[in-house]
Amino acid sequence: MQKKILVFNVGSSSIKYSLFYEAKKITSGFIERLNDKKDYSEAINKIFKKFENEKINVLAHRVVHGRELKKTSLINPEIKKKIKQFSEFAPLHNPKQLMVIELCERFKKPQYAVFDTMFFSDLPEVAKIYAIPKNITEKHSIRKYGFHGLSHKYVSKGLNGKTIVCHLGSGVSISAINNEKAIDTSMGLTPLEGVIMGTRSGSIDPGIIFFLEKRKYNAEDLLTNKSGLKGICGYNDFRDIRSRINKNKNCKLAYEMFTYSIVKTIGSYVSALNGLNNLVFTAAIGENVPKLRKEICNSLKYLGLKLDEDKNEKNEEVISSKDSKIKVHVRKTDEEKMIAEEVLKILK
Ligand code: ADP
Repeated sequence: MQKKILVFNVGSSSIKYSLFYEAKKITSGFIERLNDKKDYSEAINKIFKKFENEKINVLAHRVVHGRELKKTSLINPEIKKKIKQFSEFAPLHNPKQLMVIELCERFKKPQYAVFDTMFFSDLPEVAKIYAIPKNITEKHSIRKYGFHGLSHKYVSKGLNGKTIVCHLGSGVSISAINNEKAIDTSMGLTPLEGVIMGTRSGSIDPGIIFFLEKRKYNAEDLLTNKSGLKGICGYNDFRDIRSRINKNKNCKLAYEMFTYSIVKTIGSYVSALNGLNNLVFTAAIGENVPKLRKEICNSLKYLGLKLDEDKNEKNEEVISSKDSKIKVHVRKTDEEKMIAEEVLKILK
C-alpha cells in the first residue's frame, strides 16, 4: 500500500507543509506570521482539517539541529529530549519544531524527525573540528555541524565529481561535495558561521565579539539579527537591496560584499576539492538572480567556466555553455521532498 506522509517544515514564524503519496508531492501549503503557541496550534488544526479525508500514515518533521543524531529518527521521549537539548545551537528553530511535534501528538500517528545536520555528519575531521583545545571540543561536542543539509543533499543528487552548492536564501550556506558526499560546508556549530546573510554577519574576527561584549553590547543578538546585509545597508530582503543599488551607496556596498563573500568561499572550496566539475545555485536568491550568478561565474573564468548568458537570464537548469569546463546548474530546492524520501528509506 502507498504510504501517505505529511511533511512539516517549521520555521521561526511559519509552517510549510506538504502531503506526499510515497515520494510524490500531492499538495503543499504555507502558513506564516505565527507568533505564539496558540497560532501554531490553530495552524496545525487547520492543516489536519484540510486532510481529514486522507488516511495519513506518517508525519515527518524537519528539525534543524540534530547534533550527534546522524539518522532519521522515530520520535519518542528520548529523541524529544535531545531536540530540546540542541535548542541552544538553533534557538530560532528547534523549540518551535519541538512544539509542533508535541501539538501533532494528539493525532496519534508515528512521527519522524529528519535533521538538517545529517548530510554533514561525516565531514572529514580536518574540516569538522575547530582549532580550540581538544578536551573542550570533546567535552561539549563543539564541531562544524552544518545546516541546510536537506537542500544541499537534494540539489546535489546525481552529480558526480567535484561539486560546490550555493544555497542562497535569507540564510546562506555553501558546501563542497565529492561524488554526493559532503566534505566541507560554510555554516558551523551554529548557522552564524560562513557567508554574509540577510541579518547574520557570517564569519568575522572572533576578537570583535570580545570587543563588543566588553562594551556591554549583546553580541549574539547583534550578529544574528542586526548584521549581514541588514547591518550594512538597513535592508535584509535581497529584492530591496537590488532595486536600490544605483541610488543608495550602502545597498551597493552590501551587494558587493555579499558577492565577494560568496566568491571567496567558492574559491576556498575549489582548493579543498582540488578542482571543480559542477557549480549549483539554489534557494530563492540562487534560483532567481541572474546578475549575481553571472558575477560569481565571471570570477571563475580562470578555471575554464563559461556561462551561457541567454540561458542564465532565463533561469534555465543548466546555464553553462557546452564548452565550459565546469557545468553550472540552477536547481530548485525541495526540502520537503527530501524529508519524504528520507522517511521512506527508513520505512522500507
Ligand atoms: P529561507 O532561507 O528563509 O528559506 P528563501 O530561500 O525563501 O529563504 O530566500 C529568501 C531571500 O530570497 C530573501 O532575501 C528574499 O529577498 C530573496 N528573494 C526571494 N525571491 C526573490 C526573487 N525573485 N529575486 C531576488 N531575491 C529573492
